Parts: sequence; C-alpha cells; structure tokens
Amino acid sequence: LVSRKKKAEDTVIQLGDVTIGGGKPVMIAGPCSVESYEQVRTVAAALKEAGITVMRGGAFKPRTSPYDFQGLGIEGLKILKEVASEFGLKTISEIVDPAHIELACDYIDVIQIGARNMQNFELLKAAGDVRTPILLKRGLAATIDEFVHAAEYILSRGNTQIILIERGIRTYEKATRNTLDISAVPILKQETHLPVLVDVTHSTGRKDIMAPCAKAALAAGADGVMVEVHPDPATALSDAAQQFNIPQFQEFYNQVKGSGLL
Ligand code: PEP
Ligand code: MN
Repeated sequence: LVSRKKKAEDTVIQLGDVTIGGGKPVMIAGPCSVESYEQVRTVAAALKEAGITVMRGGAFKPRTSPYDFQGLGIEGLKILKEVASEFGLKTISEIVDPAHIELACDYIDVIQIGARNMQNFELLKAAGDVRTPILLKRGLAATIDEFVHAAEYILSRGNTQIILIERGIRTYEKATRNTLDISAVPILKQETHLPVLVDVTHSTGRKDIMAPCAKAALAAGADGVMVEVHPDPATALSDAAQQFNIPQFQEFYNQVKGSGLL
C-alpha cells in the first residue's frame, strides 16, 4: 500500500493550515525532551518568531540507560498542548506504548514512533488504528525495505497519514553519531508516495555539519528537516551535546533558507 505503484500521487499530510509533503518543504524544530513549561514556552516563542509552524518535543523518552531522564510522560504532553495552543503551533511527540496511542491523539498533532520502536509491531498496529498522522523513524540498523514494511503495518490498518524520517543508521563510522543515509531520501521518494523528512540532529550528532546536511537532504528531495533546539543545551536532560541553542538555531535556519531549498 505504501508503494508508488499502488498510488502515484504524493500523500500530503494536512495539519490545519500546515502541509507536510507534496510541495513546500517544512522545518520542524523543538527540544529533544519536554522538561518544563517554561523551557517549552521559551522554544515555542522563538520558533513562532522565526516562522516555524511545527514543534517537536519528547515526553516519553526511550533512553539507553534506565538511570537517564525518562521524560515527563503525560504531563509533558499536557505542556506541549498548552504551549502549542498559545502560539498556534502544531506538535509532534513520541509515543512508546500502544496503550497511549489513542490518548495521545487528544494532546498532539503527530505521533512519533522512534527508531528503537520501528519494529515494535504492536505499537505500529495501534498507530494504524487511529487517524492521527504518524511520524515513523527509521530503525537504528534498519534496511530501507524493513523501514517501508514498518510503514506498511500502519497503512494496512487504515491510517494513511504517515511521514517517514531518515535519522541515520548505525555503521562503523565514528565521526558522526550515526551515518546519515542521504540516498534513502530519493529511494523512499521514488518507491513510496509518503512524505520523507531528514532528522539532522540524531543522524549527525554534530551541530557544525547540520546546515550542509539539511541542504543536502532538501536537494535530494526531502519534504522537510527536523532539528533539536533547547534554550540552554548545556543543562538539557537529554542530547545536551547536539541541541542548538536559540541563536544557533536561527543561524542554522537562515543558512538553510538562504540556500533557496526551503
Ligand atoms: C527523538 O527524535 O526524540 C529520538 C529519540 O530519536 P530517535 O528515535 O531517532 O533516536
Ligand atoms: Mn534527541
């Protein structure tokens, strides 16, 4: 069902007046984790000012270590909803438990399924049973074929609103956090009708190369880019080394916009 052979036209995700896919690329930004109302509000105000319409923020955090910050959970979703309504932003947040999928629809505009859960088939089925758009991340070491099949799980249950996002894959290369598989973008665009984004934060883990990687993604045909931004990255409860502060984000955004690709 996800194949271009089944449906030639691009799938377009409509979030109110915000469109993902089928035309103008989108920039999605926001903190790695929702940490507090003030933290999210500070980012939202900066995004609004920059003209960004979609904000991300993790409330359920799938962390490598059980001793690391696990997220604010439902409380975090409430913060996102409150701040988003104040600033008129659309929101994306990760859900990790099938039992939370329906509830999440009341708080956020797009449900993210994270890299670690790309093959959590019960979660994919639950995501397929709602009609809220799903942002599906490529697994840590997933082939493109496995990625496409994960999307098929969702679509086969009737949820046609799926966005794919390349977030880097595990390779031997240590210069970046993961290896951004830029070739996945044109392959996914050719083989599926779904919007394709690139997460430059988790794929590279390097703020110094995020702007060129974002431009490469857009030049390769991506429908948008996702990046993390935090008011004070040094104190961030997750991904402290990789999040832009607000001026850095503005500089990044200007560089990407300056390319004329966004
Ligand atoms: C995230 O986007 O918050 C995240 C945890 O990323 P990933 O699942 O790609 O590691
Ligand atoms: Mn992160």
